[in-house]
Amino acid sequence: MTVDSVIPLESLDLSKAVYDLDFEEVGKWRAQNPGKKVVGTFPVYVPPELIHAMGHLPVNLFGGGEKISISHADAILGSVSCSISKSTTVLMLGSEVFSKYFDGYVFPFICDVARNLSGIFDRRSGKPSYMLHLSQNFESSGSVKFLSKEYREMIATLFPDETLEIDNLRESIRLYNRNRELQREIYDYRSEMPWNVPLADLYLVMRAGSVIDVSRHNALLEEYLEKIKKTERNERDAIRVVITGNFCEQPPQDIIELIEMVGCYVIDDEFMIGRRYLADDVDPEAEDPIGALAESYIHKGAKLATRFHEGEKGEIMMQRVKAAKADGVVFLTAKFCEPALDDLVLQQHILHDNDISSVHIEYEERGSGYENIRLSLETFVESMLFD
Ligand code: SF4
Repeated sequence: MTVDSVIPLESLDLSKAVYDLDFEEVGKWRAQNPGKKVVGTFPVYVPPELIHAMGHLPVNLFGGGEKISISHADAILGSVSCSISKSTTVLMLGSEVFSKYFDGYVFPFICDVARNLSGIFDRRSGKPSYMLHLSQNFESSGSVKFLSKEYREMIATLFPDETLEIDNLRESIRLYNRNRELQREIYDYRSEMPWNVPLADLYLVMRAGSVIDVSRHNALLEEYLEKIKKTERNERDAIRVVITGNFCEQPPQDIIELIEMVGCYVIDDEFMIGRRYLADDVDPEAEDPIGALAESYIHKGAKLATRFHEGEKGEIMMQRVKAAKADGVVFLTAKFCEPALDDLVLQQHILHDNDISSVHIEYEERGSGYENIRLSLETFVESMLFD
């Protein structure tokens, strides 16, 4: 499959870093930071600032992709679970590099599967694992207090003999604010000129942030932003789309490439949303910066399928469609991902009522033969281009 190639970036071999199950970048970081720890976090709603402020490296876990067999995990998790839960479990049980490099784990309570993984990792990995409970009541005055306490317990579980220095946390928040700012800038630029920001490029640049330190990722995003602004590509005949549902498990690279190849300009998506789940800056000068992080999640956290927003799901989708000036919506959901499938049903209705086209694509990490997916996407695009 061919697509516009990734703009060469001097700072990192992106494709290698992103899909590397030997975690070479993580290994390099460990070698340069003796005595420090690496914490694996499941993809969404775990604030990396708290781990970074302790001097450690937060690494987003995205399972094993297309490279490992997950049949062993069927015996542990059952066959009707998403691939990311199985391949992450297989890595923990069978990869020497994984056990050597990771010192602890955080699983946010985003679904029953993620919740159960925390217990499995706690028992089987020999490393601390924390299940992060998240507030689901966004109106209660007690929610910020509840989540702040959860964040404190997460740190205490992962780093029992260490103390969080508030000034370090303020500095980490500043670095992650810069990271969010750069990502917003790139996304805003893509919304204006999507032909200059191919999805396959952007995806790798964003995902690289899951395995390297935030300062390094900031430099990478700056380099990328500068390059896309200097590169002029030809505008194609394509439709503008919102992609939703892919917030946790990631689709195979071939599907990511297919989406643009068949004629979609992706304007809004949930790829790597765990690295930009806060829409705005967190106040580093707040009297209680842990409380500020909790407050940001509650009031500015991305409204993904895993959050409870009674009666608002359709409205949330329509706001995204309008903001993106989108022609249609691609529901890109991992097989057996219950939260994504629940939202799909609610949101397809509202789109239909508003005369907005949508298509549903389901994937697993180790899929094969994407001809049916190509056909569905082509039909979706052509129905709008030649309407
Ligand atoms: S892909 Fe869906 S079901 Fe699986 S862990 Fe993530 S949110 Fe849960």
